[in-house]
Amino acid sequence: MSSITSKIETTEFTDPNLEILFSEDLIRERVGELGRQIAADHAGEDLVLVGVLKGSCVFLADLMRAIDLPLSIDFMAVSSYKDGTKSSGDVEILKDLSNPIRGKCVIVVEDIVDTGLTLSRLLEILGSRGAKSIRLATLLDKPEPRIKKELSIDYTGFVVPNRFVVGYGLDAAGRYRNLPFVAVVKDPDKI
Ligand code: 5GP
Repeated sequence: MSSITSKIETTEFTDPNLEILFSEDLIRERVGELGRQIAADHAGEDLVLVGVLKGSCVFLADLMRAIDLPLSIDFMAVSSYKDGTKSSGDVEILKDLSNPIRGKCVIVVEDIVDTGLTLSRLLEILGSRGAKSIRLATLLDKPEPRIKKELSIDYTGFVVPNRFVVGYGLDAAGRYRNLPFVAVVKDPDKI
């Protein structure tokens, strides 16, 4: 076998270091369900989806197309994991919303809730801005390590075990956000 052929056989999406947790089809189905649920809960409301960059970008893009209602989107960027895979505890706003949320129904869209620190802090910040309601949507919920913050999540895609996952927007050192599925990295040293 030539080296060119073996390179083609192992692509980013077929990396043997990845173990698929949620397939592309399964995610599509679940995001569709969440979209229909959100639409049913927000008919007639002034709805804005707030994506938390960068991890939520893929989920937000699919979720907004599954919500058959007029809506707008906005983004915030915060620093949470400063130290690789450990929560820093402190949340710093790197990019704030572009538009006011006064009187609007806000859904904060996250990729994954781990300790809950990032979302709790975001809720504190957004809570003082006069929104009609603020709800939370997360693709993944890792309930096990949530020792610090009690959070009420309104829309959850999947519950995940306490392992580091990548794909569908989630990265490991900047890589893997483009995977169409969610996977566990078997050996982090091989990234
Ligand atoms: P929390 O503040 O809830 O502990 O952390 C939330 C953020 O940590 C997520 O938005 C995500 O950026 C990052 N994070 C937590 N768990 C994982 C994980 O398993 N994989 C990846 N790629 N990021 C994670």
